[in-house]
Amino acid sequence: MILKNFKELLDYLKTPRNIVVIGHRNPDGDALGSTLGLKHYLDKKGHKTQVLMPNEYPDFLHWVPGSKTVYRFDRQNKQSVRELSKSELVFLLDFNALHRVGDDMKNTLEKYENDFALIDHHQQPDDFAYMYSDTGMSSTCQMVYNFIEMDGGLDEIDENIATCLYTGIMTDTGSFRFRSTTSKTHQIIADLIDKGAKNDKIHSNIYDSNSYSRLLLLGQALTNLEILPEFKTAFITLSQEEKDKFNYEKGDTEGVVNYALSLKGIVFAAIFIEDKEQGIVKISFRSKGSFSVNKFARNHFNGGGHDNASGGKSTVSLKDTTSNFISLLPNYKQELLKSYEE
Ligand code: 5GP
Ligand code: MN
Repeated sequence: MILKNFKELLDYLKTPRNIVVIGHRNPDGDALGSTLGLKHYLDKKGHKTQVLMPNEYPDFLHWVPGSKTVYRFDRQNKQSVRELSKSELVFLLDFNALHRVGDDMKNTLEKYENDFALIDHHQQPDDFAYMYSDTGMSSTCQMVYNFIEMDGGLDEIDENIATCLYTGIMTDTGSFRFRSTTSKTHQIIADLIDKGAKNDKIHSNIYDSNSYSRLLLLGQALTNLEILPEFKTAFITLSQEEKDKFNYEKGDTEGVVNYALSLKGIVFAAIFIEDKEQGIVKISFRSKGSFSVNKFARNHFNGGGHDNASGGKSTVSLKDTTSNFISLLPNYKQELLKSYEE
């Protein structure tokens, strides 16, 4: 764990400030929950806080309290830049390096003259003025709870804050089932429910909002599933054409990779999603046990993340990307075969 200048940060926040809070590109439940949870808390403490996101977040997150107040850097660029220039401090939540917000926003942030405060659970964070980094944490939302606790503010947690934080902890732990879920995570969740988070409603808002076309896209993804039992590996592909056929919308492929990982005996799963507009294949990796998909994504697919969940991208065709992927597996055969033994 890294705690850098944190006491100084809490002291700095004793005076009302203009603050911007930023999540990563393609924000997920943890990015949106943590930024908005922190915003609600800071606002209650007398600060003026604006959340900025690099781009759109999926439909199934549009109900999160405060989401309507978020500025998108790609669409509301003028407002976003104005908020940044007014601000005295920028919080970076749920990502570890500025490039994770995308090139446009990164260029703007690189010129930012005041300090950054990082709260994040990804590996190998860059250096910022204030840092709270802990790769053992289930989620950034759990860290925002800890931040509020360190600030002596647990009594300030109301239904809105509790709902935001519950959302990110739930989504980043695969509904409390990943190894990163500890008894402390459950204690925090219990406190958030006591403070007004409606667990059944939040779960339903996130997971029961499928469109018919999303289910058909899932059907296509499962049809495309390939299994490589000799490497305990399974992967899924989705071409641009298939996405178009089933009216793909952002967020539709969220969680699909987990179907590959749910196969008995599989310890390594991937999904390759063609994105013609960006000219890339976006990849998600998941693993069970000791096989680090963070390292795999870093070494071969220009990405990173966590030991058991990571992502990356490729600029060659979908077919060449999966061929490359398959050709790498023999190098990892021993690691893959023993991944889930412990
Ligand atoms: P997902 O597969 O859900 O998009 O991402 C899984 C994890 O990997 C997340 O923690 C995310 O932050 C990280 N991740 C996804 N894509 C990338 C990427 O292109 N680069 C890096 N460094 N991390 C990524
Ligand atoms: Mn996260």
